[in-house]
Amino acid sequence: MTFTMILFGVIGLCFGSFGSVLIERIPHGKSFGGRSQCSACKTQLRAVELIPLLSFLYLRGACRTCKTRIGYTYPFIEIASGLVFLAALYLRPVPTQAIALSLALWLLLTISIIDIRTHFISDAMNIPFVLLAIIASILAQTFDYTGIIVGVAFFGAQWLISRGKWLGSGDIILGAGIGALVGGWERMIACLFLTYIIGALIACILLLTGAIKRGQYVAFGPFLALGAVVTLFAHTRIDRFISLYLGL
Ligand SMILES: [Zn+2]
Repeated sequence: MTFTMILFGVIGLCFGSFGSVLIERIPHGKSFGGRSQCSACKTQLRAVELIPLLSFLYLRGACRTCKTRIGYTYPFIEIASGLVFLAALYLRPVPTQAIALSLALWLLLTISIIDIRTHFISDAMNIPFVLLAIIASILAQTFDYTGIIVGVAFFGAQWLISRGKWLGSGDIILGAGIGALVGGWERMIACLFLTYIIGALIACILLLTGAIKRGQYVAFGPFLALGAVVTLFAHTRIDRFISLYLGL
């Protein structure tokens, strides 16, 4: 088990590194083939500089050629991705199930960071996420299409009412994927509740610390992602709550 954990952690770090490439390139419509380069001086990175986390420590957080600071976003994404893989292994100890859930949650993390940076959810990321979420649920035998229906209906209705002003069509597809990931309609409703509670709490903290100003747009995708992760971790409690109080 320890070996599997280390393996998942390391693969997670590598996927995090790949994720930061997607985060840099997807919003600009660039292909993600080709060697990475320094964003400041365009020097191609050497193979050793592509090793997640270690290269950041080795380079002491600056480009080898031009000494521009790399920024903590990269190691943050890599560590977060490593934790996502470990969380998936914890939730689904069966290897095939853990791999499918890892990839789905890793895409969700990457989508969330692109949403924070650009306020845009790309279909190029969204559609693979929906497919992986469905595969992960089928493998874990938790798949229930009613979760997808709630996700699509909830965000689709808002999209129709506001004629696309409150949210983008990408949020509807993301909602479908989250629905597939968490399970049936009861769990998806619980997930939406948790999303708004988490969103309100984080928005309060950001306002109080001055990180955002009143009326400023805050990306919604990351809150939905956090709501989904909490739902996955707390699903037995949520199921018990539902059967106890709602008699379902
Ligand atoms: Zn440079």
